[in-house]
Amino acid sequence: MKILVINAGSSSVKYQLYNMKDESVLAKGLVERIGMDSSIVTHKPTGRSEVTEVSEILEHTAAIRKVLGLLTDSEHGVIGSIDEIEAVGHRVVHGGEFFSESALVDGDAKTKIRQLFDLAPLHNPASMMGIKAAEANMPNVPQVVVFDTAFHQTMPEHAYLYAIPRVLYHKHKVRRYGAHGTSHDFVSKAAAEFLNRPIEDLKIISCHIGNGASITAVKDGHSIDTSMGMTPLEGLMMGTRSGDLDPAIVPYVMNKEDLTVNEVNSMLNKHSGLLAISGISSDMREITDGVAQGDANSTLAFEMYTYRLRKYIGSYAAALNGVDVITFTAGAGENSVVLRKKVCENLTYLGVELDEKLNEIRSGEPRRISSANSKVEVLVIPTNEELVIARDTFRIVQGLES
Ligand code: ADP
Repeated sequence: MKILVINAGSSSVKYQLYNMKDESVLAKGLVERIGMDSSIVTHKPTGRSEVTEVSEILEHTAAIRKVLGLLTDSEHGVIGSIDEIEAVGHRVVHGGEFFSESALVDGDAKTKIRQLFDLAPLHNPASMMGIKAAEANMPNVPQVVVFDTAFHQTMPEHAYLYAIPRVLYHKHKVRRYGAHGTSHDFVSKAAAEFLNRPIEDLKIISCHIGNGASITAVKDGHSIDTSMGMTPLEGLMMGTRSGDLDPAIVPYVMNKEDLTVNEVNSMLNKHSGLLAISGISSDMREITDGVAQGDANSTLAFEMYTYRLRKYIGSYAAALNGVDVITFTAGAGENSVVLRKKVCENLTYLGVELDEKLNEIRSGEPRRISSANSKVEVLVIPTNEELVIARDTFRIVQGLES
């Protein structure tokens, strides 16, 4: 079965076409600047060279039409006809309390995703545009939605509630939902597989460190706590997000600086984190380069970033009553040797012992970076959120057929 995985943003569509026979990627690509003056389409058939086109793509239905055209193109295509695509899987950021797992797209699922627009105003409307665009182009193909929040629906009430008047939860669903769930789910399962141990026996702390960053405590294969909250702003310091802060700062700064709600939101989401402290960049590569060159602001940003990561690892070791495995994934988690070294340096009280040589090895494969004496397994596991979406879509669509 061939499955098209779609990740739609407000002005972009990322895609990957999977052949589920061997879970191989036949082609992947990106349509950017949808609705702007010149849209850019980048298409990469596996094993062949990448093609880039600039054209006018005004909305998502036209973007998906373009993608299907490239997938079936006589020169750059990888399939003979769009009829070969038997299912479409969509990444959706927010599933609220409605979805604790992936679901087939039907009228009910679409109504629920729409009801969640308020909770994810930037993301869920874009996902809905992706779903509608795929339906318009492939009306008879089953569609599946896979949610970033679903994995965290197992969090207990004492972890997901905020200590604020409960009416806000009942009326407006103000609670913690978390994010990066497909990644934490994939990585924790892959860690158990790598160690050849049942996931039910493992206490795992999963660190997803990309532009956005979150950390999750996984017990018996289930998320019991995660650092992102009602929105992805809570938790760790990130590329451009502040992470945890005293909520009283918000009204104080709004008052002192005469900021609107949108302005303060933008400050905390887009102008904080590594970018604000370093004054240079939100990109961990530039920060660690700055540290190597002795730049004081980059060094401070790196200290703050890794200090907060260690504090979360400590708090999740407490939540789990111990830890067997710590995993690193996503852009910085998979690639930054110095970040992993710095985080693990102060975890000796947990019995963590990093093997510096293993930490320096670069490969796209799951690997151990802790020493043979370490009481905690420290692993680097490349994440693959698209594969989770393809697998869930495959499982749900196969269920329809049987
Ligand atoms: P996103 O959250 O956008 O999916 P990614 O998981 O792709 O992000 O991570 C992107 C971030 O990963 C970059 O901003 C950069 O900070 C970091 N990164 C990527 N490669 C490296 C590297 N070699 N060393 C350090 N950091 C890296």
